[in-house]
Amino acid sequence: MSIETSLLESFVEALDNKNINYRYTSGNKELLLRCNFCLDSLNLSHAHLFINIDEKSDKYLQFYCQKCNKKGIINDEFIKLYKLDIDSKNLNNYIKKKKRKFINKSNKKIVKDLKIPISKDDLDLDKIDYFQNRMGFRLTEDIIKKFKIITNIYEFLEINKINQLDNISNKMLNLLDRYFIGFLSIDNSHLILRNISTYKVQNFRYYDLELPFYKNNEKKKFYSIKNNHFDYLSKIPNIIIAEGIFDIIGVYANIISDRTNINNLYNSINGSNYFNIILYYLRLGYLNFNLEIYSDSDYNIDRYYWLEERLKLHYNKINIYYNKIGKDFGVDKDKIKVIKKMSFKNKISWKDDTL
Ligand SMILES: [Zn+2]
Repeated sequence: MSIETSLLESFVEALDNKNINYRYTSGNKELLLRCNFCLDSLNLSHAHLFINIDEKSDKYLQFYCQKCNKKGIINDEFIKLYKLDIDSKNLNNYIKKKKRKFINKSNKKIVKDLKIPISKDDLDLDKIDYFQNRMGFRLTEDIIKKFKIITNIYEFLEINKINQLDNISNKMLNLLDRYFIGFLSIDNSHLILRNISTYKVQNFRYYDLELPFYKNNEKKKFYSIKNNHFDYLSKIPNIIIAEGIFDIIGVYANIISDRTNINNLYNSINGSNYFNIILYYLRLGYLNFNLEIYSDSDYNIDRYYWLEERLKLHYNKINIYYNKIGKDFGVDKDKIKVIKKMSFKNKISWKDDTL
């Protein structure tokens, strides 16, 4: 018998033992029971919590309450809440297995290996200077590769044999090449461009250039600093997020003292939202993470409160930081004074730290 089958059997048995009502639904692919998180309604026959019991699904043994929107994996908290008599060792084994499955699957997704122009002749030295002046540190060949910086769009297209780009005029491409600095997105599906012209030649600041290797639903538009050493199975990730790309590079290079800590995963939301990035990591199977947000000052602290509630089953710690003397973190370290404005420590602690 597989772990999955035996776990489901012991789960159903535990429900029976506690006389908890449930019924099979959605063609036996879900169990429906009352939600002990929100207690559904006064009417005891109304149930809203669905548990996925379809072994083929990615969401196997995850639950969702239609009433309070609570969702997550059946973990120790869930078992305690329903007072179920289940061996948590089985559960943890299952979670480990599930994590491995996710990781194998996500590793199969091919990230197109793209070349980055690095020779002096191919770099736009004005843009390199701009970057150094703004961020306060020198760009070496290694750093250009690590941050996936593109200063010469035409050279980049040529060495990667990209002959055709959809939906962009030559005139626009010229402008982008002249006034914008580029960064490759996490999966190399987009060249994310930022306007760095000091005089107002163009009044738009961002442009996301789609590269022609991916189906639309596979593309990830956010930016992440490469970390090839992160060990998904044994490390607790520190998911570090800032709004802009310069901000996250500033956080990496100018703020965090142990920046080479392999548990650190640095991301910029790039016009998307925080939850999309967190969701990306959740889907990879990161079930217990620390979240560090380096916020723009015009993004009010109130707008982060929902994170705690929504991520309750997944996070370990959440910290939100601001730059006391500037708008954001995409600057030289002399222009940054970090203050921690909010901090959550999860009350639901995960027993097994090796997960
Ligand atoms: Zn509920």
